[in-house]
Amino acid sequence: MIEKLLKKINAQKTGERDLIARAFDFAKKAHEGQRREDGEPYITHPVAVAGILADLKLDGPAIAACLMHDVLEDTKITEEEMEKEFGKEVTFLVKGVTKLAGLTYQEEPGIKAKQNLKAQSLRKMFFAMAEDIRVILIKLADRYHNMSTLRTCSPEKRKRISLETLEIYAPIAERLGMGQIKGDLEDMAFAHAYPEEYKLLLSKIKDKYADRQNYLEKVKPIVMKNLSENKIKVLDAHARAKHYYSLYKKLQKVSDLDRIHDLVALRIILPDISSCYEALGIIHKNYKPLPGLIKDYLAMPKLNGYRSIHATVFAEEGRILEIQLRTPEMHEHAENGIAAHWSYSESNKNKLHTADIKEAQWIAQLKNWLKASDNQELYQSLRTNFFNDRVFVLTPKGEVKDLPEGSTPLDFAYAVHTDLGHSTKGAKVNGRMVSFDYQLKNGQIVEIIKGKVKKPSRDWLGLVKSSEARRRIQSWFNANPKSS
Ligand code: MN
Repeated sequence: MIEKLLKKINAQKTGERDLIARAFDFAKKAHEGQRREDGEPYITHPVAVAGILADLKLDGPAIAACLMHDVLEDTKITEEEMEKEFGKEVTFLVKGVTKLAGLTYQEEPGIKAKQNLKAQSLRKMFFAMAEDIRVILIKLADRYHNMSTLRTCSPEKRKRISLETLEIYAPIAERLGMGQIKGDLEDMAFAHAYPEEYKLLLSKIKDKYADRQNYLEKVKPIVMKNLSENKIKVLDAHARAKHYYSLYKKLQKVSDLDRIHDLVALRIILPDISSCYEALGIIHKNYKPLPGLIKDYLAMPKLNGYRSIHATVFAEEGRILEIQLRTPEMHEHAENGIAAHWSYSESNKNKLHTADIKEAQWIAQLKNWLKASDNQELYQSLRTNFFNDRVFVLTPKGEVKDLPEGSTPLDFAYAVHTDLGHSTKGAKVNGRMVSFDYQLKNGQIVEIIKGKVKKPSRDWLGLVKSSEARRRIQSWFNANPKSS
């Protein structure tokens, strides 16, 4: 089992291979006797997850941590024992993954916008709590493998996990430019999260996909011949079928399936940018372009960094075909690259909404931060501390509150509700009583003990950090000047 993994990481340094082998032995022993829901020995899971990370070329400590990612949570092994064997870095990563296990997304009946906000905060909280991007990548790979083995779980669990995948994990993968993982996660989750819609979509498109696929098989050699006659070197050409979930989302905007031209697109990989343009010229000489449907993301990359040329043309038999042209680097970027594919399309709502602006700034921050380092160093110093001025905490019901750093239980109480703020009598953090000047930390669960009457104190003005809380306390005293 481990041989296959070690083969994948053969390119890695000798010291790292040894580290990974030791982590495997350690995890195997720790999980001895435990089984997955499908009856397989537990160790098959971390090994499969590590395989995903090895394909993404993550470093040795990340793969070692990945092999042991469930050890602290599910076995008797302690942090100290792990640190003694594997040192600080690996243990830090495992601890990070263990911490994130506590964050779950539960859909509640309510307004959609509120759900969106909740998911947005949860995603930010993931970044803030992970502290290291490798922790997020381990979580993503963990989720990927769990999704692929979901069939053995109960229907309720399948649905909950799938919704969480759609709302939290897939968008995070998208932010990190991992188009392939994002698309797969969504398609695996779609069938369980929305079984009716999934079946309906499938029945609608089954023939269409097959028809488009057949058509593309006919057109491809003709396009290839054309390009080679014009001395254009093509590295690869393949059909790209649109992922089901992304089609499902697109159909909510464009209801007519016949108006979606990229159901199956022809993707052509060319050696460099100039051959992309040359190929485009030749394609347009043979096939009339659809007005307004040439998208040159080479000259103008998407805000998310995505680069390609998308040309929609009337091809053989006068049928509409989308052709995508890109170089191997751009392709790699769009599929796996952490810094690519920052999706903007997911926030198609009113851009002026404050939450969206905040989200957009967040994307920009993450993007700049990722741009600053090339991939290698990216994996080495992957601190996700770009939220160091915010702290994310949870209500007992699991709702995320996003507060300024240094916030206290009073800030939290006012963020939940003004009345709750006014009647705060005490506060518990992770089940333990704390004082009003206690500074909240990421991931803590905060519970407010409510008094019978509203009785803010003027001292509170010196204890709160958020301007919202201060304003509310101030206005209470303005309205009740006689209170102390
Ligand atoms: Mn796991």
